[in-house]
Amino acid sequence: MDSGVGNKQNEKFLDIYGIENAGAQGPTALEDAIAAAGHRSEDVRWVINTHLHFDHAGGNTVQREGGAVELAFPNAVYVVQKGELEFAGSLNERIRASYLAPNFAPVGAAGRWRLVDGEVDVLPGIRVLPTPGHVPFHQSILVSDGGETACFLGDLVPTSAHLPAPWIMGYDLAPLVTLETKKQVLARAAREGWQLVFEHDPACARGWVVVDEKKGWNPEPVDTVPAAS
Ligand SMILES: [Zn+2]
Repeated sequence: MDSGVGNKQNEKFLDIYGIENAGAQGPTALEDAIAAAGHRSEDVRWVINTHLHFDHAGGNTVQREGGAVELAFPNAVYVVQKGELEFAGSLNERIRASYLAPNFAPVGAAGRWRLVDGEVDVLPGIRVLPTPGHVPFHQSILVSDGGETACFLGDLVPTSAHLPAPWIMGYDLAPLVTLETKKQVLARAAREGWQLVFEHDPACARGWVVVDEKKGWNPEPVDTVPAAS
């Protein structure tokens, strides 16, 4: 799910965004993590992008020595909402810095997209759920196994600090749509006991939400990862 920033950006770009993503074994930290789990990039068969912003889809492709850009997961099918791919190709001044064609055009050139429309089961136990607001065709990803469900929220709720309804990123194109989406998704998460995964949180990797009648939605973090050093 999502592929991080990738390795195609120069030092200035990485410095602007404070990104440390170099891998010790593979091109990026993502390939290192896949290797640590006992797999290779060639083994990855499915990549699901919540959306195509550079920090979520940059690792879809990889720049080799000499400059050639190739698919980072050469045997994978890449999944995104059909509307998101179209949106990424209709650039305007507000969004063009976030949608960088080398992150997604090679996927199309290789015929590797599976474009979905709406709430869809991608694989048994893996479902995508439209969660608009950050961008119009953002999706979150539900993974169910053994009676439990985890929701990979993407930029709908980037950190646990964004769980309260009005805490919405300035990046969001339609914050009032985000507000409605959050209320719907978090109500469902509380009702169905989903574990929530926070993609941008440096301290809290995942947690659950419970309803607080006075304060609204409150996170209940249950597991943490160390802050980036
Ligand atoms: Zn984004």
